[in-house]
Amino acid sequence: MTMKPTNPKKIPRVALPADVRPDTLAVREGLPPSAWGENSEALFLTSSFVHPDAATAAARFANEEEAFTYSRFSNPTVMMMERRLAALERTSGCIATSSGMAAITLLVMGLLKAGDHVVCSRSVFGSTIKLLQSEFGKFGVQSTFVSQTDLAEWRAAIQPNTRLLFAETPSNPLTEVCDIRALADIAHAGGAWLAVDNCFCSPALQRPVEYGADFVIHSGTKYLDGQGRVIAGAVCGPQELIDQQLVPVMRSCGLSLSPFNAWVVLKGMETLSIRMREQSARAFQLAAWLEAQTQVDRVFYPGLASHPQHALAMVQQGGLGGTVVSFVVRGEGAVAARANAFAVIDHTRICSITANLGDTKTTITHPASTSHGRLTEVQRQAAGVAQGLIRLAVGLDDVEDLKADLLRGLVTL
Ligand SMILES: *Cc1c(COP(=O)(O)O)cnc(C)c1O
Repeated sequence: MTMKPTNPKKIPRVALPADVRPDTLAVREGLPPSAWGENSEALFLTSSFVHPDAATAAARFANEEEAFTYSRFSNPTVMMMERRLAALERTSGCIATSSGMAAITLLVMGLLKAGDHVVCSRSVFGSTIKLLQSEFGKFGVQSTFVSQTDLAEWRAAIQPNTRLLFAETPSNPLTEVCDIRALADIAHAGGAWLAVDNCFCSPALQRPVEYGADFVIHSGTKYLDGQGRVIAGAVCGPQELIDQQLVPVMRSCGLSLSPFNAWVVLKGMETLSIRMREQSARAFQLAAWLEAQTQVDRVFYPGLASHPQHALAMVQQGGLGGTVVSFVVRGEGAVAARANAFAVIDHTRICSITANLGDTKTTITHPASTSHGRLTEVQRQAAGVAQGLIRLAVGLDDVEDLKADLLRGLVTL
């Protein structure tokens, strides 16, 4: 492997006081403006970059000078997004990818080899389980799936060849919260890294490295964009490990983020904190209201005192419950419960019926027949995804309008 020289000519940073706070970094971190002095970040839609002469080109390709060469692995707009997200996640490095799934692919390809082992929560995003089990399994990386909340199960699953623990908190759709600090301790005691998928909280609420995680995974498709426009992803973590182990994979495999999508996410991050705080506040109001409805059997929301990991969530998530609220409508038996859930969904006139989340538009979905529809009934019950379960991802719609929207169906049960 060609190592970077210790003091290459660096791409300059934005001139900001060293002690500025996250809200300022969210709107300003990136790159200094170009020669034209633009105030809003430029979109560099270019596949390659021109060098002043052959010797400079040679120095840049030999990594003796840090510069932009080719957008598969270096682009100014993408770098602005990476620097801004790293600043918010409090990591030294970040590498952007074409999607959240590409971020997980890059992480596993960069850190692991055939014969290595992963321990992963059973409650992570469905495609993450498929990726680890079916795709990486083909290349000799084995995974063991364990309970989201039972630490003894995580400890028991560690093997001498375990190199990575992977978690996502809160989980979808039941919002189960795992203890990041405890998982980091288990990982490090076993000589493994801990990666946390921070999609649901975003760095506005939760910074996993503050609790000992080594890597943070993002689907920029969700709250970082925040308005449901693009597919994007990123891995945040130590700059040295990213440079040595992930950048070579990016160069060879091209899991690269398009500059246009990077620009959308970059601008989305400017309002991330204010959106997450406001959407969480609205989700809390809606969750508390749902808990009081006679047609609702149970509400899953980390911000409610009734949530099993409420205290832990309030510490890890900066006192906020997040934007995802799930609830079970009444109904005797699976068939009636499903019919009731469908009735509530079908009576809505505001909520978007879609399995996506992270939008300013509130979304509503029936997990048992969509995100968890490919599971067998036994697997679905083990995952706790009942037929009466409905998941909301609360956006910026007026809360009173959302209550009225849900009540249209609830009163028919
Ligand atoms: C959506 C999602 C992903 C995958 O991200 P894409 O950008 O769709 O590839 C991964 N993890 C979580 C928690 C998600 O919600």
